[in-house]
Amino acid sequence: MCIHCKWIGPHPNRSRSHSPGRLGTHLSTCHKYQATLRKSVIKHLVEQVHQPYIETEMTSQKLIEAVLNGAIHSNMSFRAATNPVWMSLLKQAFPNLHLPDRRALPRLLEQWAAAARADLKTRLLLNDSKISLALDGWTSSATNVSFQGTCSRC
Ligand SMILES: [Zn+2]
Repeated sequence: MCIHCKWIGPHPNRSRSHSPGRLGTHLSTCHKYQATLRKSVIKHLVEQVHQPYIETEMTSQKLIEAVLNGAIHSNMSFRAATNPVWMSLLKQAFPNLHLPDRRALPRLLEQWAAAARADLKTRLLLNDSKISLALDGWTSSATNVSFQGTCSRC
């Protein structure tokens, strides 16, 4: 789908050549896309004024999300991510916020997983082609790290 004019064309995998040629052809004739290429720097700056305000204030919810992201990124346990030393540091930085405990992180992760599961179900229901999914999970005996493998083919 063209994000500029919402034109919908066939997926490149539908043709034998798997070529995105139709999309390129559309973009060469899409008036809205062509207009974006001709915008001046001043016009871009003026449009940014009308973009929605982004909330930058730290909240308890944002703090929990940040700690969860840090734990996932560092592949550390929730107990390690919420150890007293880190929580003391966060309390000094954000004295008025509710700090996450080790139970808040899996609770939020379960909420994210449920939302992602619902989103995936919706996407699959909207899809009219055939999809093959192959899933596998295993745990390394040497490092005791769990892995999940996902392969999809349309
Ligand atoms: Zn278009």
